[in-house]
Amino acid sequence: MNDPQLNETLRNALLDRVGGFFRNTVRRNGETCSVCTGPVASPGAKDCGVCALRRAEFGNRLADQVVPLTYVRGNQQQKKHQSAHTVLSYKRPSAAEKSVKDLCLMIMAATSIHASCIAALMNRMWQSVTFVPSVNNPGPSHPVAQLARQVAFNNDADNRLTLDLGPGIELDPRAVRSDRFVVPEHYRDRVAGKHVLLVEDTWTSGAKVQSAAVALREAGADHVTALCAARWCRHDWESHRWLLDSRTEPYDAYVCPVSDDICSAN
Ligand SMILES: [Zn+2]
Ligand SMILES: [Zn+2]
Repeated sequence: MNDPQLNETLRNALLDRVGGFFRNTVRRNGETCSVCTGPVASPGAKDCGVCALRRAEFGNRLADQVVPLTYVRGNQQQKKHQSAHTVLSYKRPSAAEKSVKDLCLMIMAATSIHASCIAALMNRMWQSVTFVPSVNNPGPSHPVAQLARQVAFNNDADNRLTLDLGPGIELDPRAVRSDRFVVPEHYRDRVAGKHVLLVEDTWTSGAKVQSAAVALREAGADHVTALCAARWCRHDWESHRWLLDSRTEPYDAYVCPVSDDICSAN
């Protein structure tokens, strides 16, 4: 089911389009968060401070795994970095077409090349695909819905679902809340007992992504994988800047976002 030639084409297209400004995320025990791949709270820690607190509060109701593909060089003082421009311009009402296409290709390539890596932890491929709805435009016309449509496998009309906004959607924007999103009644059978792939464009604090994961788990999902095109890092924070500066190679879609191996012939 995997197509090596397609994977090679996707990889080369991405090197060309985003290689100059996106960098692969990295998983390094004791250095980067086992959840969000940001810097850990203190040297040797497993997680960053935010993810550790959430784990303590929500435990296994959070996403089983979070898979951010790239780092964004955000909050850069002088000129806005191209990676930040891409993830910001992609969701403007008059979305920058190149930015949408760039992120779409990243989701397509990652799910095509690393499908079995994403499945490995759960010992099961994802069976349903959804996305984190945006507050102002939660429906299928938001570009994040377009990202979700790029998922390479198990992504037919009857594998897809859309989450509704819940009563807590606008409350405590930095907190994980189980009432931020709701699984609609008519989609319950696409969630209950399933491994759900949850697509998001950008992980900033991760509050929205993890709230969506909690809603899915509470609706009976066995497993949730949160796939994020980009992990926002703050250039004005020293630990983030250090991590950003340590990533010098162009974004390579063969580098595994799950294991850090090279997965060319998956
Ligand atoms: Zn984290
Ligand atoms: Zn892989």
